[in-house]
Order: sequence, then C-alpha cells, then structure tokens
Amino acid sequence: MKYLKLLSLFIVISFNVNAQDKLNLYSDKQANDTYAITHVNVIPMTKDNTVIKNATVVIQHTKIQSINGAIPKHAKIIDGTGKWLIPGLIDMHVHNLASSSPFVMYPTKGPLVNYNTQDLMTLYVANGVTTVFELSAKPEHIGQRNEITRGDVIGPRIALAALIDGKGMSMTATNPSDGRQAVRIAKAEQYEFIKVYSQLNEETFKAIIDEAKQQNMKVVGHIPTVFKGKPGKDFFIPHFGLIAHAEELSKQTNDYSYEKAKEFARLAKENGTRLIPNLSNMESIIKQAKSLQSIQDLQSFKYVHPLMQSKWLTANRYNGASEELIEYFQHQADFHKLIVKAFKENNVPMVAGTDAGTSGIVWGFSLHDELKLLVEAGLTNEEALASGTRLGAKWLEIDDKVGTIEMGKFADLILLEDNPLLNISNTRKISGVFVNGKWLDETKIDSMLLGVENWNNANKENYDWNALINSLNDY
Ligand SMILES: [Zn+2]
Repeated sequence: MKYLKLLSLFIVISFNVNAQDKLNLYSDKQANDTYAITHVNVIPMTKDNTVIKNATVVIQHTKIQSINGAIPKHAKIIDGTGKWLIPGLIDMHVHNLASSSPFVMYPTKGPLVNYNTQDLMTLYVANGVTTVFELSAKPEHIGQRNEITRGDVIGPRIALAALIDGKGMSMTATNPSDGRQAVRIAKAEQYEFIKVYSQLNEETFKAIIDEAKQQNMKVVGHIPTVFKGKPGKDFFIPHFGLIAHAEELSKQTNDYSYEKAKEFARLAKENGTRLIPNLSNMESIIKQAKSLQSIQDLQSFKYVHPLMQSKWLTANRYNGASEELIEYFQHQADFHKLIVKAFKENNVPMVAGTDAGTSGIVWGFSLHDELKLLVEAGLTNEEALASGTRLGAKWLEIDDKVGTIEMGKFADLILLEDNPLLNISNTRKISGVFVNGKWLDETKIDSMLLGVENWNNANKENYDWNALINSLNDY
C-alpha cells in the first residue's frame, strides 16, 4: 500500500500533466465538484437570520461561492424546491473512540483495539454534524483529524481540548506549578483548548486557568468537586469560559430553585462564562438507570461499535440505580431546564453539546435530541438552532469560517425536507449534507450507514468488553 502511494506520487511528479489531471491522479476524493442548489429556502443563521426564499446557492472548492449569483456552466444541479438549507451542526461536547492501549505493554505493541475512522465519522456526517469539539483529546484524535483533512475520511472538523485532572488516566496536576506545566505541554503537543476536570484542587484549577490565558488557550470543563457548597462566585473565574454540562452547576448545590438558577446565570454573565446545557445526557442517564432496555431500543444503537455496545450493556454504571438515585437524577434534570431558562433570560449564550460517546449517547444522532430538549426547556426553535451552529463556531473562534450560510464560508450545510424554524424535529429530515463542499445525498448517506451497521453485525462476536478488561490482567 505504501509502495503504491509512493508510486502515484512519482507519477504526478514525473509527468507534466495539467492541474486537473494531477487532481485526478490523487484520486477524486480530493476533487470537489461545483454544485448549485436551486429554489431552496436558506436559513442562514446569521444574527438577524433573514430567510432567503427560493434561492440559488453555488458551492465550489469547499466554499459557498455565491447566494443568488450566476450558476457556473459545469455545476451539478441539486433541486432544492420546497427544501430548507441550514448550516452544518456543531456538537460542542464529544468523546470520539480512538485506537489506543491503556498502558504500554511492550515497545511496538500498538493499540489493543483498532477503530475504522470512517465508520466513526459516518455517524456525524450522516446527521449533518460537521464540526465537533473533542473534550478529552489524545494523539490519536490528531491522527483522525489528519485523515479527514487529507481527504481519506469524510468527517467533521475537529477541535481538540486536552484534559487535565487531579488524578487518573489523563494528564494530572496536584499543585499550581504542575498545572501550569501541563498547560504548556498541551500547547506544545498542538492541542487548541484546555479542559479542566473534577478532581483538581482549587489552587491548581486557578493556576491552570491563568496559565491557559497566558498561553492564549480557552478553557472548558467541569467545576472541581472541591467547590461543592461554596458560593458560586468562587468558581466563576475569568477565563474559565465554558461549562461542560449544566450538571456541573447542579452538583454544587442542593438548592434547585429558580432563584439559584438565576444567580448562576448572573454570575456567568458577569464572568463571560458560556454553558453547554447537555440536557440529552441527563435524560439518557435517567432512562438507563431505570432500564438498559432503553439503550437497546435506540434506533441508532446498531451503528455503535460492538465493543461499546458490549460496554454500555454489560458495564453500565447506571445499571441497578436505586429509586433514590433515580429521583435525584430527575431533580437535577428539572433544575437543568430552569438553568436554561435563566441563562436565556440573562442573555448568556448556550452552545449545544451532548457528551457523545458516553453510554447511551450515540455520536451525531444525539445532537438532534439535544436541540429538541433545548426547545422543551424554553428556547425558540431559532435559538436552539443558533446554539447548534453559530454560537458554537463563535466560542471556538471559527465563526468567520463556519456556523452560518454566507458567501465565502466553508460549505458545511444540511438540506432539510421541512422547515426547522417551525418544528425543531425537522432537523432530522435530512435530504443531503455538504461536508466541506462534498455532497452526500440521502442514498449515499443511507449506504454509508448500512456499511457501518453491517460491519458491526458481522463483527459483534469478536468484541466483549469484560473479556477485554480481564485480558489486561495478563499483562
Ligand atoms: Zn464529557
């Protein structure tokens, strides 16, 4: 294979062919066609979001070339009559599977489990999720992103946050000096963001945030458990820019009143802190705590890698939860809705994120659940869409590139059968997706998903979570 790649490179260098032929030699996966979507209703998701009815959108070389401009001669026409175009969705809280070993067994060993990157990424693009924020980034995720940017894999844009905790499997720091060093290491290793985690002590948490500011890295994450019961002003710290779940707030207090939610919203506003409500995860946790059948009943379960199917069903931390615990989860979930309401009232931006990859939360599919729950919690359909598009792009500081439908932006787009401004569930009625200018129509999406399903079914027998864990004892 390597030989073949070298050979094709040699061919390109050796022959004086024109640019178009060169492109073909590299294979057509890198050559983007020109498309014109005609008679489509554009929901640009810009701030004023004026819907452009019956428009023509031209896509060329990964970008939105024009809206209501001329159609280039060789453009492929996509009939958008009666359909609606929205920006590709952004999931601001995901955990992608990555080939890795829990520890070094011997030099040259390599990963215990290898994942097919395309199979992982298909779930996102099939759902129109064209950007994701990986919140426990590892070197393998940089490799996955390379596969996507190289054109070998069709997948979303991936932003990477390196996780720092007080103990555990990730980078750890138990004092301010180590915390600062961990931030500098993350920077040197090319991660773009820092994620702070639950077991950091107060001084180290603050030092990490301060160092990240100096290194020009934004900070997302958990509120460490040491803050439980302390006043909110203690953990709303400047430059701690994004809270990873509403649960981080409900864990700090026993007061689940609307007054308390409003206090959190006011502190967030004053501090410039944004929130990922992540309502879908808590909803799923409650269902799992009641019965794991809820996981098996998911229509998307068949697309989950068989090792994770096994893990979610046989090593599920919510399995067998007591009535009291289920009741506590329900109180939290109710409080999270109040938090969303209070943040909305205080005009604190919220961004959609799902914790995809944790048990019961299926990559790509979960974002549509989240948008629906945000609406149930009080956001308008348009506000929910903004949280899943423009506002996430803004926090990641890529809003000049994605997040809205405007000329010159990357062509990350979803063509929908029905208007999501009338019913948020219409985001699921996908007629096709543009990923970085590459068009995937419904037929292509269905065949990609079927490929994942078939592979999972054919290989189910080979993946047993508990057997894998037991095998680690042999080393
Ligand atoms: Zn997470």
